[in-house]
Amino acid sequence: MVFTFLPVLILCFMNFAGNSTRRKFIQTISGSIGSSLLAFSTPAFSNGFAFSPTEGTAGDIQEPARKLGIALVGLGKYSEGQLAPALQETQRCTLAGIVTGSPDKAEKWKSKYNIPDKNVYNYQNFDSIKDNPDIDIIYIVLPNSMHAEYTIRAAKAGKHVICEKPMAISVKECEDMIKACKDANRLLSIGYRLHFEPYNMSLAEMSARKTYGSVKVITARDGMDIEPNVWRLNKKLAGGGPLMDVGIYCVQGAIYTMGVNPVAVTAKEGPKTDMKRFKEVEQSLSWQFEFPGGAIANCETSYAEEMNLLRADADRGWFQLDPAYGYTGIKGETSQGKMDLAEVNQQALQMDDFANCVLQKKKSKVPGEMGLRDVKILTAIYEAARTGKKVQLTNL
Ligand code: NAD
Repeated sequence: MVFTFLPVLILCFMNFAGNSTRRKFIQTISGSIGSSLLAFSTPAFSNGFAFSPTEGTAGDIQEPARKLGIALVGLGKYSEGQLAPALQETQRCTLAGIVTGSPDKAEKWKSKYNIPDKNVYNYQNFDSIKDNPDIDIIYIVLPNSMHAEYTIRAAKAGKHVICEKPMAISVKECEDMIKACKDANRLLSIGYRLHFEPYNMSLAEMSARKTYGSVKVITARDGMDIEPNVWRLNKKLAGGGPLMDVGIYCVQGAIYTMGVNPVAVTAKEGPKTDMKRFKEVEQSLSWQFEFPGGAIANCETSYAEEMNLLRADADRGWFQLDPAYGYTGIKGETSQGKMDLAEVNQQALQMDDFANCVLQKKKSKVPGEMGLRDVKILTAIYEAARTGKKVQLTNL
């Protein structure tokens, strides 16, 4: 297990620097010493997987021959609002192509991001992307039920894949996705951006260092008041309700803060007060994880209430993020006072790390196996809520 204070110092410096200085500094660190930051943001203990740091964290490379080309599949809110802008800040990869069912969107994106015609695909001709050397990585940003099909098609086209969370809507689909990438000798990563976010990773670090003693109780809450008539409320497309979408951040947060996987779960679905929106999926859900040694995590998710918290109570103090899971604006506090870390572009760091993994042939620290683990856990939470019984998590 490797700990380093250098990145913490860097981040403290960045917080005192002005915006343009900070921007320049982010560009610099994601170049020459970016690997330190990435190493910090992705400690081997943080994800519940026992990868050695060299396997689990992409080191830096000096001068890549060229930036790797990423094609975004699905040009909805996340692609448009976060990923495409982040790709203007990446050092190792670039927005090279798009896959969309909408010719109007294609025109808009082509001119906005200078994407040539030959790198624009639709869902019918998608497989011919295999012949396009401009595209190294395909990033799946579609509704959850489509992740498996497009990840498998991307791997068969010989491309490395980043797939958005949740990895898929069933354990079997996740296993098939991992197999397809393995068979094609391609890397697979999940869009778990918070593993590149300093506040979230500092919780993992404080817990592992036992800064406040052993963590006994985690509290994780993530919810939003969802608009009606969206695919997220359609069980077939989403696979479930808020648990699949935002509750997964509580699963992730509890695990990277504890540094180990949970061993059992109990759960309870909340009452439905709005049958129009929540005809097919749960409105809210609460669950409790048990960890080895007796620590617990109390978690809650909702599509009818805004909430956003990750907190750890330990023997001699506490530490928390409130809010915890956003793209920006995360705030941290401990029983000794406010935390003061810099804001980073999570998605830019996440995509650059994956590009480095591809360039160095190293497994991502947020690999398909982590996505599979989480889908197993989500499935167990639903089972616990349905049966009212404790479900052992022996198969992770
Ligand atoms: P969105 O609804 O804004 O976009 C979905 C895209 O898929 C649209 O461009 C839509 O046209 C396309 N699409 C293709 N077939 C479709 C179909 N049958 N039904 C509906 N849309 C279809 O959704 P989004 O918020 O961009 O989410 C996309 C994925 O990204 C989801 O898996 C979501 O969980 C994930 N996501 C991740 C984060 C994150 O922070 N990592 C944030 C937001 C979304």
